[in-house]
Formats: sequence, structure tokens, C-alpha cells
Amino acid sequence: MSDHQNRGQDFSLEADSELRFEIEQKDAKVLVTLVNGFAELFGTELVKKKKYEFGMGAKVAIFTYQGCVLHVTGKMDVCYISKETPMVQYVNCHAALEQFRTEAEEKDRRGPVAMVVGPTDVGKSTLCRILLNYAVRVGRRPLYADLDVGQGAIAISGNVATILIERPASVEEGFPKTAPLVYHFGHKSPSGNSVLYNAVVSKMAEVTLQSLNGNKRTKSSGIIVNTCGWVKGHGYAHLLHAARAYGACAIFVLDQERLYNELLRDVPSSVHVVLLPKSGGVVERSKELRHECRDQRIKEYFYGNARAPFYPFSFEVKFQELRLYKIGAPPLPDSCMPIGMKAEDNKTKVVAVTPTPALIHHVLALSFAESVDDDVIGTNIAGFCCVTEVDMERQVVMLLSPQPRPLPPNALLLWSELQFMDNHT
Ligand code: ATP
Repeated sequence: MSDHQNRGQDFSLEADSELRFEIEQKDAKVLVTLVNGFAELFGTELVKKKKYEFGMGAKVAIFTYQGCVLHVTGKMDVCYISKETPMVQYVNCHAALEQFRTEAEEKDRRGPVAMVVGPTDVGKSTLCRILLNYAVRVGRRPLYADLDVGQGAIAISGNVATILIERPASVEEGFPKTAPLVYHFGHKSPSGNSVLYNAVVSKMAEVTLQSLNGNKRTKSSGIIVNTCGWVKGHGYAHLLHAARAYGACAIFVLDQERLYNELLRDVPSSVHVVLLPKSGGVVERSKELRHECRDQRIKEYFYGNARAPFYPFSFEVKFQELRLYKIGAPPLPDSCMPIGMKAEDNKTKVVAVTPTPALIHHVLALSFAESVDDDVIGTNIAGFCCVTEVDMERQVVMLLSPQPRPLPPNALLLWSELQFMDNHT
């Protein structure tokens, strides 16, 4: 490490500018301290003199409305100050949502549901984080719904999830992921089963909108909804479906005029559709990197991270004790369906899965449903496990699980297409 990396470097930021940096090297450690002024990371205020630590994979921006001095030590791969940021537009969106919230509070109505949409890598999750942080900083308690099954920000990929946001995200770790409501989908893209995706989104919207009535503060705070980056064709139809299911009152469109105009055309005129620029700092991720990020999230689910390591368990389950199901049966032509059923119904059918060697590495969701006769699609997920071995001779599978054996009695496991190679050492 060079001398100035050891001693660190001071960065003076003017008002409305941000320091952006990326860390790519393994074992790299960057420490950032706010020396003077005020600064925030994606909406979370930095505490003066506190050292914040960032490691490999960090891609962040520290923004200041008033100007500040930051002290940084450690090796970064990219590091520069930018004066061109869309933060003022973003804070205006927050101000508009606040007006809706104040009105909702006065009239004891439901607060705003705002959806953030746009293609991949435009900063959708980051804008959600900023809006949620600003909301809690002024005393709101919004819900955060994540419909992005490709890069789940709350649960692991392949699921749709909602959490209550009660405090600003941690600078280093993001929002705490405690007590989420998670519905299983099982695919990395809504295209894996479009009918099921819409059914899961409808259920999530119905349940969470209903839950708003249970808490006055959350009711007026509303919901921020993050969506998938698939915005063409069927992807667009999914966005429209979600907007309808949630009764969205605002849609923030990041960086795509075409999508903005399509939405203006297709949603009721009462919905506020707003086109916003993407930040020049948002980092594009290749297909491989997206895959790696997904893998990393699953790994963290089982093993935690350096700050909070977890120690998962491994145990065998006999085939005959494994209650494994998959949602969605192979398509059949309408003419082969029982009378009164459509081919579409097959897509949400719960079917039993027989263990084969092909099950290896698949992530399985543990449902709170007790039997397949329950509403499996609309039942919360308790957690996940991963198949690390299939022994056809002994008729057992080996599962990696955050909980020790045994699985809860009547545990109902749901197959997902996600795979995780457990090569943790
Ligand atoms: P996806 O296509 O997965 O839905 P997205 O549109 O939600 O992606 P984000 O995940 O918000 O995009 O952003 C992509 C990456 O860019 C993240 O690692 C985020 O931390 C980083 N990023 C966002 N804004 C900035 C910024 N202003 N400066 C530096 N990095 C940023």
C-alpha cells in the first residue's frame, strides 16, 4: 500500500456534489470519516468522526447538500468527485410524497404507493433506499416492497418480499432484513412463470395494503415498490399489473423516455408518472457480475459476513420424509385440461417433486403452509435451505440450513431454479 493510502486523503466537497468510489479487490478495506460539514450515503446521514468501513464490491456515493470534508484511507479502484447528480430531483420526489402523506394523515387515508421502474442498472434500488431513508428521517414508517426477483434486495433472488422500514439504512449494511414477508416465486426472472409472478405480486399487494390498516403511522406513510429491470413486452405488462395491484399513485421512471411515454399512455391519468435521470455514478453490471451478486446474497444468507458470521447446519433427510413441491406444472393444451380449467391454472398448481440427482445445489424455500391444500402462493416463507448432496442409493438428501435438524414437522419445501454451490471453507 502506498504511503498516501496509508495516511489517507482528504476530499473537500462543494454543496450538491458527491464522492463516488468502487472497490474491486479482494481483502481491500477502505475507511471513510466525515471530518467537517454534513454528508449522507444514499439518504443515510454520516455521523461526524465515525469511521465507516467498506470492502470488496462496494460501489457507493457520499453526497452533500451543504458541502463537507471527507477523510479516506485504503485502496479504491475508482474514486472521483462529481458535481452532476440528480439528488435534487430525487429530494423533490420525496417532498411530493410527503405532501401525499400529510394529506393522508389528516384524513386517515392510505398514504402514497410509489413505484420505481426502469431498465437494469439505472439505480432503482438506490432511489428506493434514498426515498425510504428520507421518509424515516422525517418520522414516517413506510413499507418497502421488492418485486425484483432477479436481484432481491430483501430476501434472496427468486422471491418477492416486503419489510417495514423503521430506521435509516446502515451506511455499511443497508436496511436490516428482520421479519420480512416473503412469498416464493422460484425463478430468476418473471418470464420463468408469468402467470405465477402476477399471482404472487397480486397476493403481496393485497396482503400488504390490508396490513396498512393495522398501524396508523405506516398507513399514512405508504409503500415504496422496487421493480424488475425487464421493461419490454411481457416485462412491461408485469409493471402495469403491479401498478394496478398496488393502486400506485406515483411511478418514478428512471432513465427511459420510451417507458415513460408508454406508462403515460397506459395508466389512469390520476397516476403521477415522473421521468427522472439516472445518476452518472450507477455502475453497470455484466451478466456474470449479476450472477455473482445473486450468489453472494445466498452465501450471506447461510454464512453471514465478516461483521456477523453465521454457522449453518448440514443434515440428512430421507426421501420419504421430504415433502418437496414445485409451483407450476408443465403446460398442457386447453383441450387436455379437465372441464372448467384453463391451461393457465396449471401455472399456479402445486405439484410434488420426486428427488433425483438433478436436485443438487438447488435452493429450497421452507413454507409456513402446512399442506398443499393451503394457499401456498400466499403463505409466508420461513427460510431457505440448499441441497448439497443427493444419495440415490441411500435415498437421502443432505441439506444446508440456518437451523439445526430436524426440519419442522410437516415442513413443506418449495423447489426453486436458483442454485448455490456450497464451497465455503
Ligand atoms: P437492477 O438492474 O439490479 O435492478 P438497479 O437499477 O436497482 O439495478 P442499483 O442496484 O440501484 O441499480 O445500482 C447499481 C449499483 O450502482 C449499486 O451497486 C449502487 O450501489 C451503485 N450506485 C448507485 N448510485 C450510485 C452513485 N451515485 N455513485 C456510485 N455508485 C452508485
